[in-house]
Amino acid sequence: MAEYDYDLITIGGGSGGVRASRFSAQRYGKKVAVIENLRIGGTCVMRGCVPKKLLVYGSHFSDHFEDAEGFGWSVGESRHDWAKLIAAKTKELNRLEDVYHRLLREAGVDEITGTGKLVDAHTVEVDGKTYTAEHILIATGGWPKLPDVPGIEHAITSNEALDLESLPERIVIVGGGYIAVEFAGIFAGLGAEVTVIIRAENILRGFDQTMREALRDEMAKRGINVLSECQVKSIEKTDSGYSLRLDQVDFLETDLVMYATGRGPNTKGIGLEEVGVEMDKNGAIVVDEYSKTNIDNIYAIGDVTDRIQLTPVALAEGMAFARTVFAGEPTSMSYENVPSAVFSQPPIGTVGLTEADARKDHDVLIFQSRFRPMKHTLSGRDEHSVMKLIVDKKTDRVLGAHMIGDDAPEIIQGIGIAVKAGATKADFDATIGIHPTAAEEFVTMREPLRDEED
Ligand code: NDP
Repeated sequence: MAEYDYDLITIGGGSGGVRASRFSAQRYGKKVAVIENLRIGGTCVMRGCVPKKLLVYGSHFSDHFEDAEGFGWSVGESRHDWAKLIAAKTKELNRLEDVYHRLLREAGVDEITGTGKLVDAHTVEVDGKTYTAEHILIATGGWPKLPDVPGIEHAITSNEALDLESLPERIVIVGGGYIAVEFAGIFAGLGAEVTVIIRAENILRGFDQTMREALRDEMAKRGINVLSECQVKSIEKTDSGYSLRLDQVDFLETDLVMYATGRGPNTKGIGLEEVGVEMDKNGAIVVDEYSKTNIDNIYAIGDVTDRIQLTPVALAEGMAFARTVFAGEPTSMSYENVPSAVFSQPPIGTVGLTEADARKDHDVLIFQSRFRPMKHTLSGRDEHSVMKLIVDKKTDRVLGAHMIGDDAPEIIQGIGIAVKAGATKADFDATIGIHPTAAEEFVTMREPLRDEED
């Protein structure tokens, strides 16, 4: 080891990089350094999941105030102070950043600030200083991808949306994925007029069709205008805001344009080409099941590998990497039945196959329940929850579980264990419900929907 400064140098201090570094140092006693050029904590903690969810919480209160009346409350006039919410969010992120610094310090991991660039397979340069390591881990994450549209420089991404100085009165969000629908809910909940522009016929490609349709309906009820099969041709700055030329309607005036058109791997300018690390056509680092690149001592985890762009996946990849390399126990992670949630309003939770995907390889039974949540019988809100189970006819195994409705992410986390463990519909049926909850629907759906194939 004396040959190198470190056993491991990790480039990128996001969720995956920090976890892999801490695990390698604490559990396996390795000498580790992590290099970060922005804030430690990365996308999830500083520019993604965490601040987004805080804003989602903040935007829910308009609903709560409205709903309260049905329960006998008279709520006075309410006003929202955007700057106050952003300041509170920023304070919490600063606290979390300190926690991350402390955790790394306590694990004995050295932090190096700057951009790490590979010089050769064992050497990384940061601001003219070089460091060597036996193993290198690339965990540089991703960054918003913007299409080449005239005037695109006027658009913001989720990075800037989290730090706006004021809430726009009108906002256009381009894209229909996780980020677009989550931010549409945030801005609408806080009082902005929101238009979502999607090129496809519906939002959330890849999700179960029933969930996509249900969310679209609920978004419409909240006044979010979704323009589908529509493309932005150009964005122009005007005296009062921005003017978008669309292929569907002539012009759309707005105060702010946000793009949420996917995220691409952060692989530029870190010496990957120079050292010969293989990348695919989208610039993602190509790795094997142990996260190893084509170069024996260089590994990559998280969004930079574009496998599944989710924090818990990067964490699991980071731990599997450390075990593989430093414990000599080759460990791969399973990408099957990874649950995920969309923090839209209402939110979606999902695990396993969509109905469309399940039908490709299985004969399936579909169990579905659509209902008005108990709370809204008194609040009067016109909102519905939908739950859906996709069951393999032959084996009775639950192949997929999907829900849209309050608490769906919390509920699906538990259902995810059952699906991952291979539970059958009979296991679900044998489970006693907790009454009165929405979640009990998952164990009380008895009659399948009529199957067109029967
Ligand atoms: P997604 O890949 O989820 O969605 C991208 C959207 O942009 C799609 O609707 C896509 O349309 C559209 N799009 C892509 N290119 C263009 C284009 N040139 N013009 C117009 N529309 C376009 O990306 P996001 O940016 O929403 O999020 C990135 C990733 O981050 C997600 O995939 C997810 O893994 C992760 N994430 C997870 C969250 C969570 O777990 N709750 C929250 C936020 C992000 P089409 O459908 O037609 O392809």
